[in-house]
Amino acid sequence: MRVLIQFALIVVLCLNATAVVEKITFRSGTNQLAGLLALPERIGKHPVVLFVPGDGPVSKEAFSTPGTNRNDQLHHSVGKWARFLDMGFACFAWDKPGIGESPGDWEKETVFERADQLIAAIDYLTNRTEIDQSLMGLWGISQAGWVMPSVAAEIDEVKFVIAVSCPAQTIVEESAYLIEQQLLKQGVESEKATLARELYIRKWVSLRAGVSFGEATRAAMHNQRQLAGVEQPWLAPFTREDFNMLSTNRNRLESFFYNPLRHLTEINVPVLAMFGGKDTQVNPGTGFEGYKKALTQAGNRNVILKEFKHADHVMAAAKTGSLEEIKARTAFRPIPEYWISIQEFLEQHFPTALGRDRPVAKQKDTRFANMNIRLTFKDRRTLEYELNLENIIRRSLASYTNLFGGLPRKENGNFYDYIDFDIYYGNISGEADPQFVAIDVGPQKVFGYLTWETALIHEIFHLWSAETFRYKDYREQWFNEGATEYYAIKHALRFGVLDRAEAVDVWSRSLSMYLTANGAGSVSLREAGRKDLKRQNYFLVCHGGLLVALILDLEIRHFTQNQRSLDDLMRWLYKNHNRTNKMYGLDDIVVGLQQLTGRDFTPFFSRHVHGSDILPVGKFLSRMELEAIREGKIDEIEATRREILKAVLELP
Ligand SMILES: [Zn+2]
Repeated sequence: MRVLIQFALIVVLCLNATAVVEKITFRSGTNQLAGLLALPERIGKHPVVLFVPGDGPVSKEAFSTPGTNRNDQLHHSVGKWARFLDMGFACFAWDKPGIGESPGDWEKETVFERADQLIAAIDYLTNRTEIDQSLMGLWGISQAGWVMPSVAAEIDEVKFVIAVSCPAQTIVEESAYLIEQQLLKQGVESEKATLARELYIRKWVSLRAGVSFGEATRAAMHNQRQLAGVEQPWLAPFTREDFNMLSTNRNRLESFFYNPLRHLTEINVPVLAMFGGKDTQVNPGTGFEGYKKALTQAGNRNVILKEFKHADHVMAAAKTGSLEEIKARTAFRPIPEYWISIQEFLEQHFPTALGRDRPVAKQKDTRFANMNIRLTFKDRRTLEYELNLENIIRRSLASYTNLFGGLPRKENGNFYDYIDFDIYYGNISGEADPQFVAIDVGPQKVFGYLTWETALIHEIFHLWSAETFRYKDYREQWFNEGATEYYAIKHALRFGVLDRAEAVDVWSRSLSMYLTANGAGSVSLREAGRKDLKRQNYFLVCHGGLLVALILDLEIRHFTQNQRSLDDLMRWLYKNHNRTNKMYGLDDIVVGLQQLTGRDFTPFFSRHVHGSDILPVGKFLSRMELEAIREGKIDEIEATRREILKAVLELP
């Protein structure tokens, strides 16, 4: 989905000394939405936070200026842009349809339409050169809890979520909770309050089940009689207008039954979710537990959940948390732990983003072949890695140039004349683009053994595989990532970055990660690379692909008496393919293998790569051999096979 930018009007209001605010418009479906983008004044790319407000009329200015409307003031207190701008984040918000400068009617839209608008906003920002697209995140409160999860689960650009007082059950269930809590605060006895909650849910469930208008009205009147003496506008029968609208607009009706847990189980980016123990509008108990369970199920390790016992729905210190108490307030101020939690969350997960405002610690130019190699140390803490970094970069470039038979090439076919390396400090991660590698260094180990060195060796390989010659589409992601990781592990062993004594264990860890991956045995390796699935199937794509690379290397060596290897296939791809008009697909890999070995690999790929059959790793690596290797009895293995295993597993 691409957004049509109707016009970009640069109006400069001054938010504070260091920000420039620009009014823009973007399109979401038939809606023309008015947005407000605040950019830190410093030149360069900025990480960005998109603000998703709760229910009700909220203007795009709410977060930058408190305004006079209470709903705006309330949003300002918890979503103050100045706080985020200070941390180096750009901020983006927009008028809901029918609010401020956006035409339409927000009251007629569902949470699904709000999610579409959020996606359109993300799309708009991906076209802005001032925005660092590798770091876009969401902040949202209350009703945003039905908007953000599906977007965070499905849109790769979303890199973090800050959820404030967000629900983990349906709109109907949360409304019923609000009714129950309000009745309790009014002093209604608890059995009656519980009954009110149940009857409210029943009223909606029967509507969904398709009762007639007459039946619905009769049932509502019966329910009202059961709760005689209790103020009960919520239990009133549906008006004919509402009834007709809801029963003919299935999408709208279903939105009331949308449970965000469905998408929370698919979110793998860092999440900070905060709940107020005295929240009477969104159930903090089911919220906290729902987030905890769903994100654990997602395998998400980067989750921070907070329940502030004395805070209400808007994170302010409260006595009862009732709507009346909130309404009676003249000023809104969240408890101090609220902002501290946001700051800590962003610093913990995105230290480099927050550090981008700081001056570069050091820049160093060196040469390799005819290329200028520029190392930019973004953080003082990266300097202690300098020697090691340079060493690994040189050794990788030398080894890969030899393996592929040439330097990496640009789109026009010319060899690279430079490569820029940006070095950050933080959680292990990396990225490769043409003539560019970014790497985060630090002391951590991923899965207990993968270090920043292995990540760097991996990314440098991508300068050839992915950036010089490229896969046609997502279906060959398994090969792109798998072969790259295969060579990264081999080189890490060769360079002594990974312990050589544990070489066999490194492969068995990968095997177990593949076998326990989401989708192993049911999703094919090709399909697992689909953009919307790649994150949830990361282990399948990466470790499955890695094992296929290992098997291919063994097979090529086996059929050629160890005269040829996967290196020759990589070299063949480098020679015959590029990233413009000759990208490779599975068919090309089959042709390359046929030329190298004289064998047809089609049946193997059909079953295990195009199909979802588990890779028969045991057939290619026998337990007996691995035991012999482990026990130092490698000489007992037949000579050619021994040489193959040594080469493939990088044994000394
Ligand atoms: Zn990669």
